[in-house]
Amino acid sequence: MGTNQIQLIDQYDRHLNYLRISITDRCNIRCIYCMPGNGISKLRHEDIPTYEEILRIAGIAVNLGVDKIRLTGGEPLVRKGICEFIPRLTALAGLKEVSLTTNGIFLREKLENIKAGGINRINISLDSLHRNKYKKITGYDGLETVLAGIKEASKMGYHPIKINMVVMEGVNDEETLDFARLSLEHPYHIRFIEYMPVSVTSPDIALRHVPSSLIKQQIGNLGKLVPIPRDILDGPAERFKFEGAAGEIGFISPLTHHFCPLCNRLRLTSSGYLRPCLLSDQEVDLVGPMRNGASDEDLAEIFLKTALTKPYAHHLTPKNTTHLSAEMSSIGG
Ligand code: SAM
Repeated sequence: MGTNQIQLIDQYDRHLNYLRISITDRCNIRCIYCMPGNGISKLRHEDIPTYEEILRIAGIAVNLGVDKIRLTGGEPLVRKGICEFIPRLTALAGLKEVSLTTNGIFLREKLENIKAGGINRINISLDSLHRNKYKKITGYDGLETVLAGIKEASKMGYHPIKINMVVMEGVNDEETLDFARLSLEHPYHIRFIEYMPVSVTSPDIALRHVPSSLIKQQIGNLGKLVPIPRDILDGPAERFKFEGAAGEIGFISPLTHHFCPLCNRLRLTSSGYLRPCLLSDQEVDLVGPMRNGASDEDLAEIFLKTALTKPYAHHLTPKNTTHLSAEMSSIGG
C-alpha cells in the first residue's frame, strides 16, 4: 500500500485524512434519538450514489491523502451488494484502515464476508442490555441477535470491538454501570456518547442529554478510571481503563467537551454530498457534478475547496440545541 500526501488541509491547519461514507439512508431499526418522530423521508434510489460512484469518490479522496474510511449509514449492512463492495473499497491503494459502524443486526450473518473483504475495525451501536428496553429504544426485538454478532466478531479476532451507547436521561442512563462492567471482563471498548439534538424533533428526547461528567461519576463506583494517553489514531473519545480491566471506557462528548480542534473528518452523505462538519448544515454536491461529466480533477477541486470551508467548531451546547435540517441516517453519525 502506498501513502499519498495529505492535501486536504483546512484553514486551521487540520489535516483531513478521514472520510466517513454513509452508504444508505435506510435502516432496519428506528432508534428514538436518530429517526425523526414523524418518520423518515427516504431518498429515491436514483439519488443515492451507486457503488461505482462511491468508489470513484473514495479513490479521489485517497489520492488527496485520505487514509481512513468508515462505512456508516443508515445501516450499511442493509444495502444490497455491500459484501461485494467492501473488498473493492479496501483494495484502494493508500488506505490504511476501513472500518464499519453497524447496529449489529446483520453482523453475524455477514461477518465472514466482512472479514474476508478487509474491514479492519467494527463499531456496534447498542443502547440497552435489556431485551424490552432495547426494543423500546429501537422498535425492534433484536438484542440477542446483536449480542451474538458481538461475540462472533470477537471470536473472529476483531479487537477492539467498540460498543457505542447513546446515554439518555430516564431512558437508559441507569445502565451505564452495566455497560462499564462489560469492559472489566471483555476486551471491548465501551463508549458513552452524549446525545446530540440532531434531526429528532421531539423536545422530550432533546431534554434527555446526560453530560459525560455525570456518567463518569456514575461508573466511578466500579473502580479507579485510569486515563489512557491520546494516540494519533484516536478518534474523539477521551479514553480510560479500570485497573486490571480487559477493555476500555471512552467518553464522546460532542456538546460538553468539543473535540472540534482535533477533527480530521469529512463526510460523504447518502445523497452524495460532501459535508465538512457533522453539526453544520453546510454541504457541497459531489455526485451531481459527477453525473454531469465532471473529471476527477474537477471533483478533487471540490474536495479541496470544501476542506477550506470546514468550520472551526460547531456551536451546539446542552442549552443551545438548534436542530439541523439533515437527518443522521443520511449524514452518517
Ligand atoms: N446504523 C449504524 C449504527 O447503528 O451504528 C450506523 C449509523 S448510526 C447514525 C451511527 C452512530 O450515530 C451510532 O453510534 C448512533 O448511536 C449515533 N447517533 C445517531 N443519532 C445520534 C444522536 N442524536 N446523538 C448521538 N449519537 C447519535
